Amino acid sequence: MPMNPINYVGDDAETYRNFNALPEEHKNGHVWDSDDISIVNIKKAIKDHYIVSQDYTCPYCKQRLVVNHNATWDAEHIIPKSSHPKFIFEPLNLCVSCKDCNNEKRDKAVLRNNRRRTFPVNSEDYKFVHPHFDNYNEHINIVEVAGYYFPLTEKGRKTIEKCGLLRFAYKYTGYGNTSQENKETIRELTNRLMEAGSAAEENMLLSIIADAVQAGQRLSKDAFLQQIGAQR
Ligand SMILES: [Zn+2]
Repeated sequence: MPMNPINYVGDDAETYRNFNALPEEHKNGHVWDSDDISIVNIKKAIKDHYIVSQDYTCPYCKQRLVVNHNATWDAEHIIPKSSHPKFIFEPLNLCVSCKDCNNEKRDKAVLRNNRRRTFPVNSEDYKFVHPHFDNYNEHINIVEVAGYYFPLTEKGRKTIEKCGLLRFAYKYTGYGNTSQENKETIRELTNRLMEAGSAAEENMLLSIIADAVQAGQRLSKDAFLQQIGAQR
């Protein structure tokens, strides 16, 4: 699903122009936290726009949270505002993310060249899956039922790292109906996968994880059917 960058209108367009007109040394990340009404308004416009444009879906973990209260979401600076405050209102540097992904990602560097001064508009400029410039499915395959994120590319792997996406696998293996042994297997394998040194090693780990996940699913399904049966 393509995401449209925000197009500022009215007072927000003026706020954006005024910020861009500031001398470089005054383009400070603290502007974002100002309680000036023009900043409060543009931030609300940003969140409201991206929540709908992203169809209530976090661009990193792809969880869908259909909640209208916009405090459910964090406005997300794709290139962190701590390192590049001049991009805080840049439409292609903005989106919303779930609070967990935002909290994991924080100030982590995402640019190949972190000293870059002009706004990078190409996928290749970024180390991870960019919410605007990349097609997520080319980089990460989500096994929803297990909460597992398979990296398909280096960018995918970096995204899983930076956004802490293994938290879902840990959650899955932490409880649920799969056996303790199976939980530990998946946990161990997901950790090792992140450190795999070669494509061959990675493929081997992926196939073992896939088997373990399937075994877990079968167990979960049996337990579910038993529960249904018990209620009848
Ligand atoms: Zn998320």
